[in-house]
Amino acid sequence: MEGTSAQVRYPCCGKSDHSVFFGGDVKGYRYTVFDDWLRTVSPVDFVHIVKKPQNGYGHVHFATHDEASRFYCFTLENKIVGPDGSYVKFKASHFISGEKVEYERVGSFGEMFGKWINGISNISDALPLAD
Ligand SMILES: [Zn+2]
Repeated sequence: MEGTSAQVRYPCCGKSDHSVFFGGDVKGYRYTVFDDWLRTVSPVDFVHIVKKPQNGYGHVHFATHDEASRFYCFTLENKIVGPDGSYVKFKASHFISGEKVEYERVGSFGEMFGKWINGISNISDALPLAD
């Protein structure tokens, strides 16, 4: 039942601006693999990972929008290699409306440029946060 609808729902679930999208060479991985891996990589605490094994994408859920923003900015400033050296790319989540989440620029990157408006998308197109 791992990685399916059996996943626990938290207060963060359904709040797109509390999440960051990820894609890449991640098909076949269960969310548990990403959870264990990201906790060793991320400088920002997150609540949990939402990812189904059959999907080549998932979401990282945070308790607050601020934490999601801090993590998002971290991914812009740092090259992050996925589990087992896999390719992983982080992108803005989408609202159900299709609009991308705007993350605040925080940390060194944020202080230089102010508010970050995400305008870059490839694989995250048309993938509203479903969970
Ligand atoms: Zn959640």
